[in-house]
Amino acid sequence: MASASRNIDTLVLHGGAYRTDPATGATAVPIYQSTSFNLGTTEHADRLVNFDEIGFVYTRLGNPTQDALEERLAAMEGGAAALALASGQAATALSVLTLVSAGDNIVTGTDLYGGSWNFFANRLRQFGIEARFVDPADPSAFARATDARTRLYFGETLPNPKLQVFPIRDVAAIGRGLGIPLIIDNTTSPLLARPIDHGAAIVIYSATKYIGGHGTTIGGAIIDSGQFPWEEFAERHRLLTGPDPSYNGRSWVDIARKFGPVAYIFAARAGLLRDLGPAIAPQNAFQLIQGLETLPLRIQRHSENAARVAAYLSGHPKVETVIFPGLQTGEARRRADAVLKGGYSGLVGFEVNGGAAAGRRFIDSLKLFFHVANIGDVHSLAIHPASTTHAQLSPEEQLATGVTAGYVRLSVGVENIDDIIADIAQALEQA
Ligand code: PLP
Repeated sequence: MASASRNIDTLVLHGGAYRTDPATGATAVPIYQSTSFNLGTTEHADRLVNFDEIGFVYTRLGNPTQDALEERLAAMEGGAAALALASGQAATALSVLTLVSAGDNIVTGTDLYGGSWNFFANRLRQFGIEARFVDPADPSAFARATDARTRLYFGETLPNPKLQVFPIRDVAAIGRGLGIPLIIDNTTSPLLARPIDHGAAIVIYSATKYIGGHGTTIGGAIIDSGQFPWEEFAERHRLLTGPDPSYNGRSWVDIARKFGPVAYIFAARAGLLRDLGPAIAPQNAFQLIQGLETLPLRIQRHSENAARVAAYLSGHPKVETVIFPGLQTGEARRRADAVLKGGYSGLVGFEVNGGAAAGRRFIDSLKLFFHVANIGDVHSLAIHPASTTHAQLSPEEQLATGVTAGYVRLSVGVENIDDIIADIAQALEQA
Protein backbone atom coordinates (compact mmCIF):
# COMPACT_ATOMS: atom_id res chain seq x y z
CA MET A 1 0.00 0.00 0.00
CA ALA A 2 1.47 3.30 -1.10
CA SER A 3 0.76 5.14 2.15
CA ALA A 4 3.10 2.73 3.97
CA SER A 5 5.97 4.24 1.96
CA ARG A 6 8.73 6.01 3.86
CA ASN A 7 9.50 8.17 0.85
CA ILE A 8 8.27 11.68 1.29
CA ASP A 9 7.77 12.28 -2.44
CA THR A 10 5.39 9.31 -2.49
CA LEU A 11 3.67 10.32 0.75
CA VAL A 12 2.62 13.72 -0.60
CA LEU A 13 0.72 11.81 -3.32
CA HIS A 14 -0.56 8.79 -1.39
CA GLY A 15 -0.14 9.47 2.35
CA GLY A 16 -3.17 8.87 4.58
CA ALA A 17 -6.20 6.65 4.24
CA TYR A 18 -7.72 8.21 1.11
CA ARG A 19 -7.23 5.97 -1.91
CA THR A 20 -10.32 6.47 -4.04
CA ASP A 21 -13.74 7.93 -3.40
CA PRO A 22 -15.86 5.12 -1.91
CA ALA A 23 -18.98 6.34 -3.75
CA THR A 24 -17.56 6.84 -7.26
CA GLY A 25 -14.02 5.48 -7.44
CA ALA A 26 -12.67 8.97 -8.20
CA THR A 27 -8.90 8.96 -7.75
CA ALA A 28 -8.62 12.70 -7.06
CA VAL A 29 -9.88 13.74 -3.62
CA PRO A 30 -13.41 15.11 -4.19
CA ILE A 31 -14.47 18.50 -2.86
CA TYR A 32 -17.07 17.55 -0.26
CA GLN A 33 -18.94 20.82 -0.43
CA SER A 34 -21.35 20.04 2.40
CA THR A 35 -21.78 21.87 5.69
CA SER A 36 -23.23 18.84 7.45
CA PHE A 37 -23.16 15.07 7.52
CA ASN A 38 -26.06 12.75 8.23
CA LEU A 39 -25.77 11.55 11.82
CA GLY A 40 -27.83 8.39 11.25
CA THR A 41 -29.59 7.13 14.35
CA THR A 42 -29.74 9.12 17.57
CA GLU A 43 -27.62 6.39 19.11
CA HIS A 44 -24.94 6.99 16.46
CA ALA A 45 -25.17 10.74 17.12
CA ASP A 46 -24.52 10.06 20.83
CA ARG A 47 -21.40 8.07 19.95
CA LEU A 48 -20.05 10.90 17.78
CA VAL A 49 -20.79 13.64 20.29
CA ASN A 50 -19.20 11.68 23.14
CA PHE A 51 -16.09 10.79 21.09
CA ASP A 52 -16.84 7.08 21.36
CA GLU A 53 -16.32 7.14 17.63
CA ILE A 54 -14.83 9.68 15.21
CA GLY A 55 -16.94 10.79 12.28
CA PHE A 56 -17.94 13.85 10.31
CA VAL A 57 -20.63 16.05 11.84
CA TYR A 58 -20.24 19.63 10.66
CA THR A 59 -17.61 21.17 8.35
CA ARG A 60 -16.42 23.75 10.90
CA LEU A 61 -15.03 20.79 12.86
CA GLY A 62 -14.00 18.44 10.08
CA ASN A 63 -14.77 17.44 6.50
CA PRO A 64 -13.55 14.58 4.26
CA THR A 65 -11.60 16.91 1.92
CA GLN A 66 -9.91 18.59 4.89
CA ASP A 67 -9.29 15.15 6.36
CA ALA A 68 -7.44 13.91 3.27
CA LEU A 69 -5.22 17.02 3.38
CA GLU A 70 -4.59 16.58 7.10
CA GLU A 71 -3.58 12.94 6.75
CA ARG A 72 -1.16 13.72 3.92
CA LEU A 73 0.43 16.54 5.92
CA ALA A 74 0.78 14.31 8.98
CA ALA A 75 2.39 11.61 6.80
CA MET A 76 4.76 14.13 5.20
CA GLU A 77 5.93 15.45 8.58
CA GLY A 78 6.12 12.11 10.39
CA GLY A 79 3.39 13.31 12.78
CA ALA A 80 0.46 11.55 14.46
CA ALA A 81 -2.32 13.87 13.26
CA ALA A 82 -2.93 17.28 11.71
CA LEU A 83 -5.49 20.05 11.66
CA ALA A 84 -6.02 22.13 8.50
CA LEU A 85 -7.17 25.71 9.05
CA ALA A 86 -8.30 28.79 7.16
CA SER A 87 -4.87 30.48 7.18
CA GLY A 88 -1.34 30.26 8.50
CA GLN A 89 -2.24 32.99 10.96
CA ALA A 90 -5.06 30.78 12.30
CA ALA A 91 -2.56 27.94 12.65
CA THR A 92 -0.20 30.13 14.68
CA ALA A 93 -3.04 31.39 16.86
CA LEU A 94 -4.62 28.01 17.57
CA SER A 95 -1.28 26.26 18.07
CA VAL A 96 -0.53 28.69 20.91
CA LEU A 97 -4.01 29.27 22.37
CA THR A 98 -4.53 25.51 22.83
CA LEU A 99 -1.89 25.62 25.57
CA VAL A 100 -2.20 29.00 27.33
CA SER A 101 -4.52 30.79 29.78
CA ALA A 102 -4.43 34.33 31.19
CA GLY A 103 -1.35 34.72 33.43
CA ASP A 104 0.75 32.25 31.41
CA ASN A 105 3.71 33.06 29.19
CA ILE A 106 5.42 31.73 26.07
CA VAL A 107 9.06 32.06 25.02
CA THR A 108 9.70 32.78 21.35
CA GLY A 109 12.71 33.46 19.17
CA THR A 110 12.90 37.03 17.88
CA ASP A 111 13.29 35.92 14.24
CA LEU A 112 9.66 35.86 13.24
CA TYR A 113 7.20 36.64 10.48
CA GLY A 114 5.83 40.15 11.23
CA GLY A 115 2.28 38.84 11.73
CA SER A 116 3.48 36.35 14.34
CA TRP A 117 5.46 39.09 16.08
CA ASN A 118 2.40 41.30 16.28
CA PHE A 119 0.16 38.48 17.50
CA PHE A 120 2.62 37.56 20.24
CA ALA A 121 3.70 41.05 21.32
CA ASN A 122 0.34 42.82 21.13
CA ARG A 123 -2.70 40.57 20.71
CA LEU A 124 -1.71 37.95 23.32
CA ARG A 125 -1.26 40.74 25.86
CA GLN A 126 -4.94 41.60 25.40
CA PHE A 127 -5.71 38.13 26.82
CA GLY A 128 -3.21 38.43 29.69
CA ILE A 129 -0.58 36.23 28.06
CA GLU A 130 3.02 37.40 27.97
CA ALA A 131 5.40 36.67 25.07
CA ARG A 132 9.07 36.65 26.06
CA PHE A 133 11.37 37.29 23.11
CA VAL A 134 14.87 35.80 23.11
CA ASP A 135 17.67 35.66 20.54
CA PRO A 136 17.52 32.15 19.06
CA ALA A 137 21.26 32.26 18.31
CA ASP A 138 21.66 31.40 22.03
CA PRO A 139 19.43 28.38 22.80
CA SER A 140 20.12 28.63 26.56
CA ALA A 141 18.23 31.95 26.53
CA PHE A 142 15.04 29.88 26.28
CA ALA A 143 15.84 28.14 29.58
CA ARG A 144 16.64 31.46 31.29
CA ALA A 145 13.33 32.97 30.22
CA THR A 146 11.32 29.98 31.50
CA ASP A 147 9.29 29.86 34.71
CA ALA A 148 6.46 27.77 36.16
CA ARG A 149 3.90 29.56 33.94
CA THR A 150 5.77 28.98 30.65
CA ARG A 151 3.66 26.75 28.42
CA LEU A 152 5.52 26.59 25.11
CA TYR A 153 8.54 27.61 23.05
CA PHE A 154 8.15 28.94 19.51
CA GLY A 155 10.48 29.39 16.54
CA GLU A 156 10.62 29.41 12.73
CA THR A 157 12.82 26.87 10.96
CA LEU A 158 14.08 29.31 8.31
CA PRO A 159 12.87 32.78 9.32
CA ASN A 160 12.95 35.55 6.80
CA PRO A 161 14.52 38.03 6.52
CA LYS A 162 17.46 36.69 8.57
CA LEU A 163 17.35 33.22 6.95
CA GLN A 164 19.29 31.77 9.90
CA VAL A 165 18.07 28.31 10.77
CA PHE A 166 16.55 27.98 14.25
CA PRO A 167 18.39 25.64 16.69
CA ILE A 168 15.50 23.17 16.76
CA ARG A 169 17.37 20.29 18.35
CA ASP A 170 18.90 22.36 21.17
CA VAL A 171 15.73 24.25 22.11
CA ALA A 172 13.56 21.13 21.84
CA ALA A 173 15.93 19.30 24.22
CA ILE A 174 15.83 22.15 26.75
CA GLY A 175 12.05 22.18 26.55
CA ARG A 176 11.76 18.40 26.82
CA GLY A 177 13.64 18.51 30.14
CA LEU A 178 11.38 21.24 31.52
CA GLY A 179 8.11 19.90 30.11
CA ILE A 180 7.76 22.57 27.45
CA PRO A 181 6.82 21.68 23.85
CA LEU A 182 8.55 23.42 20.95
CA ILE A 183 6.26 24.70 18.18
CA ILE A 184 8.06 25.21 14.88
CA ASP A 185 6.70 27.24 11.98
CA ASN A 186 8.09 25.39 8.93
CA THR A 187 6.37 27.58 6.32
CA THR A 188 9.51 28.42 4.34
CA SER A 189 11.05 24.95 4.23
CA PRO A 190 8.49 22.14 3.77
CA LEU A 191 10.11 18.81 2.82
CA LEU A 192 13.58 20.36 3.15
CA ALA A 193 13.20 20.29 6.94
CA ARG A 194 11.21 17.86 9.06
CA PRO A 195 11.19 19.58 12.46
CA ILE A 196 9.74 16.55 14.29
CA ASP A 197 12.88 14.58 13.36
CA HIS A 198 14.84 17.17 15.36
CA GLY A 199 12.59 17.10 18.43
CA ALA A 200 9.85 19.65 17.68
CA ALA A 201 6.56 18.68 19.37
CA ILE A 202 4.33 20.59 16.95
CA VAL A 203 4.81 21.90 13.41
CA ILE A 204 2.73 24.65 11.84
CA TYR A 205 2.41 25.99 8.33
CA SER A 206 1.13 28.83 6.33
CA ALA A 207 0.09 26.47 3.50
CA THR A 208 -0.57 29.64 1.50
CA LYS A 209 3.12 29.57 0.58
CA TYR A 210 5.07 26.58 -0.79
CA ILE A 211 2.44 23.91 -0.01
CA GLY A 212 -0.23 25.58 -2.18
CA GLY A 213 2.55 26.95 -4.32
CA HIS A 214 0.55 28.83 -6.94
CA GLY A 215 -0.49 31.97 -5.09
CA THR A 216 -4.17 31.04 -5.26
CA THR A 217 -5.18 29.82 -1.81
CA ILE A 218 -4.91 30.94 1.80
CA GLY A 219 -4.64 28.06 4.27
CA GLY A 220 -2.74 26.76 7.26
CA ALA A 221 -2.09 23.63 9.25
CA ILE A 222 -0.95 22.32 12.62
CA ILE A 223 0.77 18.93 12.81
CA ASP A 224 1.01 17.14 16.16
CA SER A 225 4.07 14.88 16.49
CA GLY A 226 2.16 12.79 19.03
CA GLN A 227 5.46 12.53 20.89
CA PHE A 228 5.16 15.13 23.62
CA PRO A 229 4.49 13.49 27.03
CA TRP A 230 1.80 15.86 28.35
CA GLU A 231 0.91 13.60 31.27
CA GLU A 232 4.51 13.49 32.51
CA PHE A 233 4.18 17.26 32.98
CA ALA A 234 0.52 17.22 33.98
CA GLU A 235 0.68 20.27 36.24
CA ARG A 236 2.22 22.47 33.53
CA HIS A 237 -0.34 21.38 30.95
CA ARG A 238 -3.60 21.38 32.90
CA LEU A 239 -5.46 22.57 29.78
CA LEU A 240 -4.82 19.12 28.28
CA THR A 241 -4.54 16.95 31.38
CA GLY A 242 -7.15 18.57 33.65
CA PRO A 243 -10.93 18.65 33.35
CA ASP A 244 -12.32 20.73 30.47
CA PRO A 245 -15.60 22.28 31.59
CA SER A 246 -16.76 22.54 27.98
CA TYR A 247 -16.60 18.72 27.68
CA ASN A 248 -18.39 17.68 30.86
CA GLY A 249 -15.19 17.89 32.88
CA ARG A 250 -13.36 15.27 30.82
CA SER A 251 -9.70 15.89 29.97
CA TRP A 252 -8.33 15.91 26.43
CA VAL A 253 -5.78 13.22 27.21
CA ASP A 254 -8.61 10.95 28.35
CA ILE A 255 -10.88 11.78 25.42
CA ALA A 256 -8.09 11.16 22.90
CA ARG A 257 -6.45 8.13 24.52
CA LYS A 258 -8.13 5.40 22.50
CA PHE A 259 -7.44 7.21 19.21
CA GLY A 260 -3.67 7.56 19.75
CA PRO A 261 -1.30 10.21 21.15
CA VAL A 262 -3.40 13.04 19.77
CA ALA A 263 -4.69 14.96 22.82
CA TYR A 264 -3.19 18.24 21.62
CA ILE A 265 -4.73 18.15 18.15
CA PHE A 266 -8.07 17.01 19.61
CA ALA A 267 -8.06 20.02 21.93
CA ALA A 268 -7.12 22.34 19.06
CA ARG A 269 -9.96 21.02 16.89
CA ALA A 270 -12.79 20.22 19.29
CA GLY A 271 -11.95 23.09 21.65
CA LEU A 272 -10.38 26.08 19.91
CA LEU A 273 -11.54 25.53 16.33
CA ARG A 274 -15.06 24.79 17.61
CA ASP A 275 -15.09 28.01 19.65
CA LEU A 276 -13.19 30.43 17.37
CA GLY A 277 -14.18 28.98 14.00
CA PRO A 278 -11.30 29.48 11.47
CA ALA A 279 -12.22 26.39 9.42
CA ILE A 280 -10.71 25.87 5.99
CA ALA A 281 -13.20 25.72 3.10
CA PRO A 282 -13.33 22.31 1.37
CA GLN A 283 -12.47 24.02 -1.95
CA ASN A 284 -9.31 25.46 -0.42
CA ALA A 285 -8.35 22.13 1.15
CA PHE A 286 -8.67 20.63 -2.35
CA GLN A 287 -6.45 23.34 -3.85
CA LEU A 288 -3.80 22.71 -1.21
CA ILE A 289 -3.85 18.96 -1.96
CA GLN A 290 -3.14 19.80 -5.62
CA GLY A 291 -0.19 21.90 -4.52
CA LEU A 292 1.14 19.35 -2.07
CA GLU A 293 1.30 16.68 -4.77
CA THR A 294 3.95 18.56 -6.78
CA LEU A 295 5.77 20.15 -3.83
CA PRO A 296 8.88 17.91 -4.08
CA LEU A 297 9.50 19.00 -7.67
CA ARG A 298 8.78 22.66 -7.02
CA ILE A 299 10.83 23.05 -3.83
CA GLN A 300 13.82 21.53 -5.61
CA ARG A 301 13.56 23.99 -8.50
CA HIS A 302 12.96 26.95 -6.14
CA SER A 303 16.09 25.95 -4.24
CA GLU A 304 18.23 25.59 -7.37
CA ASN A 305 17.08 28.92 -8.80
CA ALA A 306 17.57 30.73 -5.48
CA ALA A 307 21.12 29.39 -5.17
CA ARG A 308 21.89 30.76 -8.65
CA VAL A 309 20.38 34.15 -7.77
CA ALA A 310 22.37 34.31 -4.51
CA ALA A 311 25.58 33.55 -6.39
CA TYR A 312 24.80 36.24 -8.96
CA LEU A 313 24.00 38.89 -6.34
CA SER A 314 27.16 38.13 -4.35
CA GLY A 315 29.31 39.27 -7.23
CA HIS A 316 27.30 42.41 -8.02
CA PRO A 317 28.89 45.82 -7.33
CA LYS A 318 25.57 47.43 -6.31
CA VAL A 319 24.87 44.78 -3.68
CA GLU A 320 26.21 45.26 -0.18
CA THR A 321 25.29 41.95 1.45
CA VAL A 322 23.48 38.80 0.35
CA ILE A 323 21.53 36.69 2.81
CA PHE A 324 21.13 33.06 1.85
CA PRO A 325 21.76 29.92 3.96
CA GLY A 326 24.11 28.48 1.35
CA LEU A 327 26.40 31.51 1.69
CA GLN A 328 26.59 31.40 5.49
CA THR A 329 29.64 30.20 7.38
CA GLY A 330 30.39 28.87 10.86
CA GLU A 331 27.56 27.90 13.25
CA ALA A 332 24.79 29.34 11.03
CA ARG A 333 25.92 27.18 8.10
CA ARG A 334 26.37 24.11 10.28
CA ARG A 335 22.80 24.51 11.53
CA ALA A 336 21.44 25.08 8.02
CA ASP A 337 23.12 21.94 6.72
CA ALA A 338 21.97 19.87 9.71
CA VAL A 339 18.31 20.82 9.25
CA LEU A 340 17.76 21.59 5.54
CA LYS A 341 18.18 18.62 3.22
CA GLY A 342 18.32 18.89 -0.54
CA GLY A 343 18.25 22.68 -0.86
CA TYR A 344 17.97 26.02 0.92
CA SER A 345 14.45 26.96 -0.27
CA GLY A 346 13.59 29.89 -2.54
CA LEU A 347 14.22 32.93 -0.36
CA VAL A 348 17.12 35.30 -0.92
CA GLY A 349 17.66 38.60 0.86
CA PHE A 350 20.01 41.36 -0.10
CA GLU A 351 20.94 44.86 0.87
CA VAL A 352 21.24 47.17 -2.07
CA ASN A 353 23.74 50.07 -1.95
CA GLY A 354 21.88 53.32 -1.29
CA GLY A 355 19.45 52.35 1.49
CA ALA A 356 15.67 52.61 1.41
CA ALA A 357 15.48 54.78 -1.74
CA ALA A 358 17.57 52.31 -3.75
CA GLY A 359 15.55 49.38 -2.39
CA ARG A 360 12.34 51.04 -3.53
CA ARG A 361 13.78 51.90 -6.98
CA PHE A 362 14.82 48.26 -7.41
CA ILE A 363 11.29 47.08 -6.65
CA ASP A 364 9.72 49.68 -8.96
CA SER A 365 11.97 48.59 -11.84
CA LEU A 366 11.17 44.86 -11.79
CA LYS A 367 9.35 43.53 -14.86
CA LEU A 368 9.13 39.76 -14.32
CA PHE A 369 8.99 39.62 -10.52
CA PHE A 370 5.67 40.54 -8.93
CA HIS A 371 5.73 43.10 -6.10
CA VAL A 372 3.71 41.26 -3.46
CA ALA A 373 3.76 40.49 0.27
CA ASN A 374 3.56 36.75 -0.37
CA ILE A 375 6.32 34.16 -0.64
CA GLY A 376 6.52 30.59 -1.94
CA ASP A 377 4.65 31.12 -5.23
CA VAL A 378 5.84 29.49 -8.47
CA HIS A 379 6.13 33.04 -9.82
CA SER A 380 9.10 35.12 -8.66
CA LEU A 381 8.16 37.71 -6.04
CA ALA A 382 9.93 40.66 -4.42
CA ILE A 383 9.28 43.14 -1.62
CA HIS A 384 10.92 45.90 0.41
CA PRO A 385 9.94 44.78 3.96
CA ALA A 386 10.79 48.03 5.82
CA SER A 387 8.02 49.88 3.99
CA THR A 388 5.48 47.01 3.75
CA THR A 389 5.37 43.73 5.72
CA HIS A 390 7.34 45.15 8.66
CA ALA A 391 6.06 48.75 8.47
CA GLN A 392 3.88 48.39 11.62
CA LEU A 393 6.87 47.40 13.74
CA SER A 394 8.95 50.01 15.55
CA PRO A 395 12.47 50.63 14.16
CA GLU A 396 13.89 48.61 17.09
CA GLU A 397 11.52 45.72 16.39
CA GLN A 398 12.41 45.89 12.67
CA LEU A 399 16.09 45.59 13.51
CA ALA A 400 15.44 42.69 15.92
CA THR A 401 13.76 40.81 13.09
CA GLY A 402 16.66 41.64 10.74
CA VAL A 403 14.98 44.22 8.51
CA THR A 404 17.25 47.10 7.49
CA ALA A 405 16.37 50.13 5.33
CA GLY A 406 17.80 48.85 2.05
CA TYR A 407 16.82 45.24 2.53
CA VAL A 408 15.00 43.52 -0.35
CA ARG A 409 13.42 40.08 -0.08
CA LEU A 410 13.18 37.85 -3.10
CA SER A 411 11.06 34.72 -3.28
CA VAL A 412 12.61 33.09 -6.32
CA GLY A 413 10.12 31.26 -8.52
CA VAL A 414 10.45 28.36 -10.94
CA GLU A 415 10.78 30.38 -14.17
CA ASN A 416 13.83 29.89 -16.40
CA ILE A 417 16.83 31.07 -14.37
CA ASP A 418 18.19 33.21 -17.24
CA ASP A 419 15.00 35.29 -17.26
CA ILE A 420 15.03 35.64 -13.47
CA ILE A 421 18.62 36.89 -13.42
CA ALA A 422 18.05 39.21 -16.40
CA ASP A 423 15.18 40.91 -14.53
CA ILE A 424 17.26 41.35 -11.38
CA ALA A 425 20.16 42.70 -13.46
CA GLN A 426 18.08 45.37 -15.20
CA ALA A 427 16.36 46.41 -11.94
CA LEU A 428 19.73 46.76 -10.18
CA GLU A 429 20.87 49.02 -12.98
CA GLN A 430 17.96 51.36 -12.16
CA ALA A 431 18.41 51.14 -8.35
N1 PLP B 1 4.14 32.16 9.15
C1 PLP B 1 5.00 32.59 8.21
C2 PLP B 1 6.44 32.23 8.31
C3 PLP B 1 4.54 33.38 7.16
O1 PLP B 1 5.38 33.82 6.22
C4 PLP B 1 3.16 33.72 7.11
C5 PLP B 1 2.61 34.59 6.03
O2 PLP B 1 3.29 35.35 5.40
C6 PLP B 1 2.31 33.24 8.11
C7 PLP B 1 2.83 32.45 9.10
C8 PLP B 1 0.83 33.59 8.11
O3 PLP B 1 0.21 32.84 7.12
P1 PLP B 1 -1.12 33.30 6.30
O4 PLP B 1 -0.74 34.50 5.52
O5 PLP B 1 -1.43 32.09 5.49
O6 PLP B 1 -2.17 33.60 7.32
